[in-house]
Amino acid sequence: MDVVVVGAGIAGLSCARALVDGGARVRVVERGRVVGGRLASKRYDGRYADIGAAYLVADDPAFEAQVASWESRGLARPWTDTLRVYPGGAPSSGPVRWAAPGGLRSLASDLADGLDIALNTSLDALPVNANVDADAVVLAMPGPQALRLNPPPGIVAAATAQTWHPVIAAVLTYPSRAWGDLRGAFVNEHPVLATVCDDGDRRGDRAPVLVAHSTATLAAAHLDSPATAGPIIADAVGELLGLPAPARIDVHRWTYAQPEPRSGGYAVDGDVWLCGDAFGRPRVQTAWLSGRATAQALLGGAR
Ligand SMILES: Cc1cc2nc3c(=O)[nH]c(=O)nc-3n(C[C@H](O)[C@H](O)[C@H](O)COP(=O)(O)OP(=O)(O)OC[C@H]3O[C@@H](n4cnc5c(N)ncnc54)[C@H](O)[C@@H]3O)c2cc1C
Repeated sequence: MDVVVVGAGIAGLSCARALVDGGARVRVVERGRVVGGRLASKRYDGRYADIGAAYLVADDPAFEAQVASWESRGLARPWTDTLRVYPGGAPSSGPVRWAAPGGLRSLASDLADGLDIALNTSLDALPVNANVDADAVVLAMPGPQALRLNPPPGIVAAATAQTWHPVIAAVLTYPSRAWGDLRGAFVNEHPVLATVCDDGDRRGDRAPVLVAHSTATLAAAHLDSPATAGPIIADAVGELLGLPAPARIDVHRWTYAQPEPRSGGYAVDGDVWLCGDAFGRPRVQTAWLSGRATAQALLGGAR
């Protein structure tokens, strides 16, 4: 079986990996310069910061095994089970959150190792092209991005049923670490902030870097000029944690950051499949499971 997987985020990579393990011939096309999609680490001043997913949580046995494999090879490590909750700043315990010393994108790079991946390659429409003889095409991406490819009706229906929210991530570099034992915080009922994480703590290098994620409302108002959101987010973090202004502010816009949770695993119409984190709770684990379920269905001949 020949399969083209479009998108080298965690869903596309887990799909491609499982297909290859099952004996399929797989080509992955990714429009970005690197793999990982929203499992993203970007270099600022020579240091990687995690600007997409803040951490991983694993509670599915298969994904737990994947995380254990990353841990055994030093790629992932348990970071914390306690984050603060604002207003108030009280600590709140939850599941173990996993981080990656090399940045979370290093986990996507690990999955990508050995796969046939064409980077900087955008698929603009289906069919892939007249010369490509693929038995199936897997669109491993947010529904609104899949809609641009003119997919068949069943995929259009699944994609348009998804609701997405934007986020602007701000990487705030300070002269020194002045926030004590923060680790990370959920910020509720705030007009600007949704989360703040200590990137130096989760990465383990103790760099004086916080990464804040905006609310969807703030992001929507600044989608055309995300840089203008940077000082607003920095001021809000300063006020929340009692910090001076950062020495450097970098922002990243995620137009399709977080979907409303849905179920289903994946969608399919004929030979075109759609998978990703919109088929469950919007988490790395969901994307990984969705890609894998798609591969298993393809290998098993399911529709
Ligand atoms: C700000 C933010 C915070 C988050 N926090 C967490 C968290 O703390 N914990 C957690 O578990 N999850 C978190 N998530 C969610 C997590 O990042 C996603 O669930 C997961 O990474 C989605 O993977 P995916 O493969 O489904 O999609 P994506 O990562 O979006 O991958 C889609 C890929 O398809 C490519 N693509 C799109 N169109 C085309 C085309 N036409 N041709 C070629 N390539 C194309 C894109 O470039 C991209 O690489 C967060 C996400 C964001 C944005």
